[in-house]
Amino acid sequence: MFRILRKYFRKCLNLIYPLKCVVCNSVISAEEIKNEYICRGCFKKIKFITCSVCKKCGRPSNSAICLYCSKKPEIFFDRAFPVAIYENVLRELIHLFKYKKNDYLDKFLAGFLIEKILRGDDLKNADFIVPVPMHMFDKFKRGYNQTELLACQVSKIVGIPMLSDRLIKHKRIPSQTALSTEERFKNVKDAFTIKNSKILEGKTILLIDDIFTTGATLNECSKILRRAKVRHVNALTLACVCEV
Ligand SMILES: [Zn+2]
Ligand SMILES: [Zn+2]
Repeated sequence: MFRILRKYFRKCLNLIYPLKCVVCNSVISAEEIKNEYICRGCFKKIKFITCSVCKKCGRPSNSAICLYCSKKPEIFFDRAFPVAIYENVLRELIHLFKYKKNDYLDKFLAGFLIEKILRGDDLKNADFIVPVPMHMFDKFKRGYNQTELLACQVSKIVGIPMLSDRLIKHKRIPSQTALSTEERFKNVKDAFTIKNSKILEGKTILLIDDIFTTGATLNECSKILRRAKVRHVNALTLACVCEV
């Protein structure tokens, strides 16, 4: 009953003040209001990963372990699960969410992560969800940590508790964006620390981040978690970059 009323209310609201797609600015029709932030056309452009993937980084791959991962001597997470390819509409959505103060997109984007968790058994069994932390100064500057917002939404729906105060980023580092793969791994080294880690011992952790580029950040976080005797670390991200 409530759902029908809500749908009716949204249809009325849409007549007075049409909702527009945050990506292409076209009006979202009442019929497609299920995705109230992006239009059907934009949604169709998101490339969800449904093909065979690398069993380590989760990127599309024909072999069990992709060439990139086979060259990495130490990968500290068990497995990464990116939801879609970082391009086009999804890149724009993440950019709006991360850099343009559109923190209200958290619930919508977290929906992609939740779907991924509920579809497979590997991620449902985590004891805690841990968002990749930001340095406190950077978080203050942005006003929020986008991965924490995502993790919070995921935690509420899937019922896995979130721990956002144990893994800490204590070192401010230059932006990873313009760096090569090797530089990214060096740049992020020793940037994280852990406190009051007793609760994590022997547990399975689901690390949440927005983008998997080289895996340097997730790997460093996983290394610190392993040192705190965490048993398993899986990583879930909204997107992955295929060309690294
Ligand atoms: Zn659109
Ligand atoms: Zn791989």
